[in-house]
Amino acid sequence: MKIAVENVVTELKSFLHNDQVSTNQTILEQHSKDESYHTPSLPDIVVYPKNTEEVSDIVKIARKHEIHITPFGLGSCLEGHVIPYEHGITIDFSLMNKVLEVKEKDFIVKVQPGVTRKQLNSELKKYGLFFPVDPGANATIGGMTATNASGTMSVKYGIMRDNVRDLEVVLADGSIIHTGNIAAKSSSGLHLNGLFVGSEGTLGCFTEITLQVYGIPEFITATRASFPTIEDAVESVVAIRQAGIPLARMELIDEQSIVQVNMHSDTDYKEVPTLFLEFHGNEAGLKQDVEFTKEIVEDFHCTEIQFETDNAARNKLWEARHNLAYAYIHANPGRKLMVTDVCLPISELAGAIRHAREALNKVGLPGGIVGHVGDGNYHALIMVDTDNKEDIKKAEEFNAQLVEYSLSRGGTCTGEHGVGVGKTKYQKQEHGEALQLMTGLKKTMDPTGLFNPGKIFSD
Ligand SMILES: Cc1cc2nc3c(=O)[nH]c(=O)nc-3n(C[C@H](O)[C@H](O)[C@H](O)COP(=O)(O)OP(=O)(O)OC[C@H]3O[C@@H](n4cnc5c(N)ncnc54)[C@H](O)[C@@H]3O)c2cc1C
Repeated sequence: MKIAVENVVTELKSFLHNDQVSTNQTILEQHSKDESYHTPSLPDIVVYPKNTEEVSDIVKIARKHEIHITPFGLGSCLEGHVIPYEHGITIDFSLMNKVLEVKEKDFIVKVQPGVTRKQLNSELKKYGLFFPVDPGANATIGGMTATNASGTMSVKYGIMRDNVRDLEVVLADGSIIHTGNIAAKSSSGLHLNGLFVGSEGTLGCFTEITLQVYGIPEFITATRASFPTIEDAVESVVAIRQAGIPLARMELIDEQSIVQVNMHSDTDYKEVPTLFLEFHGNEAGLKQDVEFTKEIVEDFHCTEIQFETDNAARNKLWEARHNLAYAYIHANPGRKLMVTDVCLPISELAGAIRHAREALNKVGLPGGIVGHVGDGNYHALIMVDTDNKEDIKKAEEFNAQLVEYSLSRGGTCTGEHGVGVGKTKYQKQEHGEALQLMTGLKKTMDPTGLFNPGKIFSD
């Protein structure tokens, strides 16, 4: 194996600069893990391509030497997606970080995969546009596409799969295809965008991504609503959704998590179950939506409602929400984050969160419940000591209980984080015979199992 690695490095360096190919121990370690509790494993080589042709040539070399490929964005995933358990070459896309084209009249942007969501939004701001999918980390668009990420605004603007118009993909034989176009709709052929978005680096490498973007709303109001119980908060979300009020963000933060927010983000929010809401639109329309929302939350015993129209206060509120996982991480040194990610039909949400709260109390590990509850997705965050087998066992049993509850009510084991290695065990139960079809597609598209082995599909 050692000799094969040296040969591969020599071949890679025949068309990549020396500093684009690394076997340095620190670099290998940086690419051996993600933000989760899953055990790290080193790649043999890390490469930093600068364009599509280089990616294609890397894939051809890996195929020739029967060495695996793991695509890598920022490494912020939460289920071990980027951990190369079979070693091989990790392709780090950080040098492919250009916004290639903004077609403002068509609300379209084309980017390289290493562009981060914050980088994209600062570029789009110049055109009065924004891209709404906002996972908590400053993830890359490549990684977000590969995990079918969503975030706080997906309740209004949809998830990655709704917003990708076209992908340039390097396939397992090194060939390069496009999966879509820039038209707003198309009935032509199979929906390849849908197939590749969420494929977690198992079907190919994305080298260009074309996205639908949106005009920055004329008026934005953010709201913090406090409740005596988590049930009251969740039931008011369901009522707001059922009333058809077009909220852009609906986030739940439980009491324990508000304590973490206050400690980490220098805020003094009331330490009770809280909803962070946001309305986008024009001033007149928003006034009506806000009044209607106020009436609904009052019916569910809301004790306090605060509005933030000022830009700085709004940004502080959402920054605090985005930093919540890091707040738990910093407050629990030596422990790693384990995040559940079930998503259920909205009518099942209150029962599911009640069930999760009771189960979390029994687990006895530090943690809390938060979520993008507007679309039925919530997370229990638990901090585990990865050296303590009992902790891992308790956390995994807890996750299994939540998944069981969700699947039995028509939900999914993962609303947005993806399968990685952590959720392969639920795939058969969730998809039944359809899993065979998925495995068949993987085998057809990647017959030698070159790309990201052990993720999604597990033997
Ligand atoms: C604090 C925190 C908060 C988070 N909040 C959210 C959230 O709200 N919503 C959410 O959806 N997720 C969330 N996540 C998870 C994570 O940020 C997302 O999964 C994100 O999409 C990963 O992007 P990345 O750039 O870090 O990709 P990576 O972690 O590097 O990779 C993720 C997957 O994408 C593949 N990949 C990367 N680049 C390419 C490419 N060019 N071609 C093909 N495959 C590729 C990798 O192989 C891997 O399978 C959070 C994570 C953290 C740490």
